[in-house]
Amino acid sequence: MNRTDLLAWLTCGNEDELEILWQRADQVRQRYVGSDVHLRGLIEISNICSRVCGYCGINAANTALERYRMQSDEILECAREAYGYGYGSIVIQAGEDPGITKEWMSSLIRNIKEETGLAITLSLGERSGDELHAWKEAGADRYLLRFETSNRRLYDLIHPSLPGIVSDRIELLRRLRDMGYEIGSGIMIGIPGQTYDDLADDIEMFRSLDLDMIGVGPYIPHQATPLGASGAVHTVAECHQVPNTEAMTYKVVALTRLVCPLANIPSTTALATLNTASGREKGLNRGANILMPNMTPRKYRALYEIYPAKVCIDETAAECRSCMSHRILSIGRSIGQGRGDSPNRTRVA
Ligand code: SAH
Repeated sequence: MNRTDLLAWLTCGNEDELEILWQRADQVRQRYVGSDVHLRGLIEISNICSRVCGYCGINAANTALERYRMQSDEILECAREAYGYGYGSIVIQAGEDPGITKEWMSSLIRNIKEETGLAITLSLGERSGDELHAWKEAGADRYLLRFETSNRRLYDLIHPSLPGIVSDRIELLRRLRDMGYEIGSGIMIGIPGQTYDDLADDIEMFRSLDLDMIGVGPYIPHQATPLGASGAVHTVAECHQVPNTEAMTYKVVALTRLVCPLANIPSTTALATLNTASGREKGLNRGANILMPNMTPRKYRALYEIYPAKVCIDETAAECRSCMSHRILSIGRSIGQGRGDSPNRTRVA
């Protein structure tokens, strides 16, 4: 798939032609990663954040939001529950919370590993090399860090660097890979100011980073953010602006599968937010092979509001599990057993 093809698909509006793209993505998914859908239990352990990302509802400037950080025991309990459900891995996600210290996190990772043996994915933002090394050493297996957009100018506008430290997620992903993590990244689709050319660059960046996991979802405006309130920090001509739609998200999922056939690709919650009835299934039928049931205790869920109207806010972990299993089986796929390591990684190892 070359750049001209990528751009042609990204701008294609013909339903019949798009049917061909969905089918190709589904065939490539079947051939390279099979029919298993792996479940990752998502635990949102803290909504405390020191950054002021223009898109994200839990950014530090949102003073109206009540903040929480889960206790180690509570997190361990969620991990036990995930293990009990037969999930092979958990994703521990949070804002960039300085209260998540190197020592505290290391000991939590060790405890989870010791008790459950689950594969552990961290998604804790841009942390120091020292912390990331320590967490790998403690037993973490994977790290998720979306680069959000490969357009550097747009990235700087929506994701301001902290004083004295230039934010370079692409460089950090390379370092994470060298540390031995399976690496995951991704983007938001339809950020104000994002063009089709940017999106083609993003997909080519997935390929050149040789990612093991790739998550993409629509950008969903949040009123308590600079970007959501103003509508735009950077504008481009309407004909170049990528829409933040369901259809555009499927295109990126499908193209990502064609360009990175061995990657683990989730059908994301943000996508399900745009189409609660069948967004997850459509994502799975158009290239994705992973679902991330939410395991965050109910009392915290609504507080981890990175974007509004996140689905599953009122569900328990048990309800999420049965809903996900049902969706997987309803489209004739199977529930993956075991850790679900990225076939991209196992190929290299
Ligand atoms: N602090 C971590 C986790 C952030 S939340 C980090 O920065 O990596 C995980 C992802 O949610 C982000 O990487 C971003 O791509 C997505 N996200 C945040 N705000 C969003 C919004 N308004 N619409 C859609 N996705 C959003």
